[in-house]
Amino acid sequence: MTKFPPYKIVVNGNDEDDILYEKWYTSEPRDNSKKPPDLEKMELRPRTGGPSQKDEIYETAVVKVLSQIKQYKTGQLVLAATLNLSADLYITPPGFRDSIANFNTDQIAFQICPTFETSASSNQFYTNNRVRFTPFLPKGYSCNETHISSTKDDTLLHELVHGARLGKLVASLINENTDDDWDNLEEFFATTVQNIYLSERGDKKVRSEHKTDIRTIPATRAASAEFMANKTNYQRVKTALKRENLAQQLAKLEQIPFNPFAEFERAKHDLRSI
Ligand SMILES: [Zn+2]
Repeated sequence: MTKFPPYKIVVNGNDEDDILYEKWYTSEPRDNSKKPPDLEKMELRPRTGGPSQKDEIYETAVVKVLSQIKQYKTGQLVLAATLNLSADLYITPPGFRDSIANFNTDQIAFQICPTFETSASSNQFYTNNRVRFTPFLPKGYSCNETHISSTKDDTLLHELVHGARLGKLVASLINENTDDDWDNLEEFFATTVQNIYLSERGDKKVRSEHKTDIRTIPATRAASAEFMANKTNYQRVKTALKRENLAQQLAKLEQIPFNPFAEFERAKHDLRSI
């Protein structure tokens, strides 16, 4: 287990919960009375007998990605959002149990790769929010090179946007379907923050949807203005700014070319000065 101070983030490579769950789940016949107990808590504990070399490699690699995120202003604001959580947020490797358990209705899950997903979750039974993320694609899963983007820093940042706010905030936005390729307002929000990060980092393109990460628009200020000229986008950005402290803080980062939140504030200011 590795902490990432000063933030409320703990990285834990221990995957005993996944191993025990898989062993039970795939046993025949599967006996419900033998289901391993306390798997949720196990996921937050150090490995029995101490960390394995695999755990250390995982934790070091995740901390490296977190340090990359911390180099940017957008990243610093997202990381700082964890300080408002009542308990530490855990970053753990996605495993067999996650691929099954995420379909429980009492969890809010965000999935990128169907069988090897990166996700953030919380539920009423536990206090520590979790983000499942892996900085590398281990062998033995059905995800392939096309899923490599889910191992990158901007993907972890996207999941941290969910994970740092899980609970009421996320629930209020996720229940508002957008009926388009953004899926819902929560994904619109998280992807917009991810886009601001990509633009700050100097990427030439940002995402123009949530469903896949294939379609893009330029990461320029002109594209940002054009994005906001669309009434639907404008309304969604307005909603996010009204409800989300993180959006309000990001709006102050005016020097980032693609920043719809800053765009909104500028337009408001321009209108006042007419
Ligand atoms: Zn998401």
